[in-house]
Amino acid sequence: MKFSLKMLTLLSTIIIDRQNKHKNILNNNNLNIKYYDYIVVGSGASGTTVAARLAENSKTTVLLLEAGSNQNIYNDIPAFESKLSETQQNWNYPTVSQKYAHFSYVDNRSNIKQGRVLGGSTAINSMNYYRECPDYYSLWSDITGVKGWSYAEVLPFFLKTENNLDNKLVAIESKYHKSGGELTVTTPVIDVILKNYIIASKQLGYKWTHMDGRNPMGTTYMQKMIDSNGFRQSIAKVFLENRNHKNLKILVNSLVTKILFNYIKKAIGVEVYRNSKIYQVFANKEVIISAGAIGSPKLLMLSGIGPSDHLEELNIPVVSDLKVGYNMIYSPIIDSNTISFDIINQSLVEKPLKTFENIYNFFVNNSGPLRNKVSGVTCFPEMSYNSTYPQLSNGCVLSRTSYLGTDLDAMVAHYKHPDQWRQYFSPYLNRTSLSLLALIKRAKSVGRIQLASIDPLEEPIIDPCLFCNENDIDDLVKTIKLALKIYTSTHMKQKIKPYKYPIPGCTPCPNNYFCDTYLKCIVQANTDWVLPMGGCRIGVSPDTDAVVDENFKVFGVSNLRVIDSSIIPVATETINAISIMIGEYGVHKILNNNT
Ligand SMILES: Cc1cc2nc3c(=O)[nH]c(=O)nc-3n(C[C@H](O)[C@H](O)[C@H](O)COP(=O)(O)OP(=O)(O)OC[C@H]3O[C@@H](n4cnc5c(N)ncnc54)[C@H](O)[C@@H]3O)c2cc1C
Repeated sequence: MKFSLKMLTLLSTIIIDRQNKHKNILNNNNLNIKYYDYIVVGSGASGTTVAARLAENSKTTVLLLEAGSNQNIYNDIPAFESKLSETQQNWNYPTVSQKYAHFSYVDNRSNIKQGRVLGGSTAINSMNYYRECPDYYSLWSDITGVKGWSYAEVLPFFLKTENNLDNKLVAIESKYHKSGGELTVTTPVIDVILKNYIIASKQLGYKWTHMDGRNPMGTTYMQKMIDSNGFRQSIAKVFLENRNHKNLKILVNSLVTKILFNYIKKAIGVEVYRNSKIYQVFANKEVIISAGAIGSPKLLMLSGIGPSDHLEELNIPVVSDLKVGYNMIYSPIIDSNTISFDIINQSLVEKPLKTFENIYNFFVNNSGPLRNKVSGVTCFPEMSYNSTYPQLSNGCVLSRTSYLGTDLDAMVAHYKHPDQWRQYFSPYLNRTSLSLLALIKRAKSVGRIQLASIDPLEEPIIDPCLFCNENDIDDLVKTIKLALKIYTSTHMKQKIKPYKYPIPGCTPCPNNYFCDTYLKCIVQANTDWVLPMGGCRIGVSPDTDAVVDENFKVFGVSNLRVIDSSIIPVATETINAISIMIGEYGVHKILNNNT
């Protein structure tokens, strides 16, 4: 492609316009007013939804406080998703050394990704949008006793936001999807390899399904939070761009360090750290904590809401003795580059390189490799949760093409034995592979988040306790074996082939390459993806594990709610859509003034 001055001018106009749109979300970044009706802490999936909906009433004043910075044009480009996690936009919380997992990584540790930017994790995540099936929500009430959380009761809060551009899907699944809401959801570009994956899975008997419908067992494509031009739809873009509510104040680079209570344990405001100074701001009505799965438990504990023994150790006066930070649940996923298959005919797949041509095509023509490629997903009926919940799978595989790049140093930096991994990856540099991302949706292992100190700038101590329950290893091995049947099927053998070398540190068996011992070794060495939830679990009094009630109110205090992924009591990897629903439901509860 030859570039003319006219093309350059066009591209820079579009980029400057996008950059301005990100900037203009902030009406001004000064904390000049001290009193608001509502203060919302954290601008992620839930917090932005809460703040924007509350501000729809022009008589209500809302302050939205975000620790991270503004978004930029890289947040618009789906193919740069993994790059965003390498920036300041990711909290990158380190875990403690794991006893049964992370054997490949330096010190047996990994890092938990969470967005630290306007839009929270929705600004840096993989954009997959789906919401689990009816049995999933039945499990919520069976485990916690909560009422009002059946699928039928939460569905309206998913539908409220949804603008699904897949007309065929909306027509077939009209009960579960709609168009017309603020949040655009699309089915992205489908590449040839994924089409073949679908054929192979059908040949093996997995039915074509729809994850959000009655029964998610089988194979389907993932829908994404991407607009019709191929741009990422972070929740900030969805709810804050082009709105300019005068009554909604948004402040970035503002870390909330403490919730303020009066003498009757009523939340009256928060302390904010910005520009190296501490400020106090006050809420006439309520303080809403939406700081995410790690941020919310951390902030509650810093403010005296948490397990009394832990708080007393740190000399934090106890305001309410609750199991904050316990019950951290997650869906473990195999590290994305580990079990990979080389795509034999590389001309079938595009390379998402940061070239001028690709950037031009993305912004001007809304085409090219920087748009997002769809992921396939198969949830295996063989991995059904139990007979009471036949629709609920515990084992799925995400199947997606990924370009390996050429920066070997970056690829191997987190491994204990980088040289072995160099050898493993080197034949596939500058090529695209099909990744086998096996996951168990509902790990039985449970982790915990604790404070390291009373310093709000210090990272918390996070122990996912990955594979502390041995059944999780077995479940993941079983899931990989099922996925391998698709990847090594006669149909797929014509398109992809396994990497040349065994996965470093693990030994295949002579007569059965992918034997159980090899897979178990891979699982314990290379499962890294831990998206947490549950540290402020929802429940009904006298459930001693519960931190918030069915109306999101924190037990033992007043005027304080936690509305985000930290309340989720049943693990899932699809936290994005669920957290937005939680935001919508939370606002409904606030406006209906539940006591
Ligand atoms: C890399 C990545 C990929 C993912 N991919 C998917 C996917 O494809 N599909 C899916 O369903 N889910 C995915 N997720 C998970 C999903 O995006 C999150 O679970 C979801 O956004 C959680 O919403 P939340 O509102 O609870 O928290 P978040 O969206 O994380 O928002 C919390 C916000 O609070 C801010 N905050 C924290 N502490 C403070 C404080 N003290 N003061 C002020 N602000 C604070 C944070 O900076 C952040 O902006 C992914 C997550 C990541 C990180």
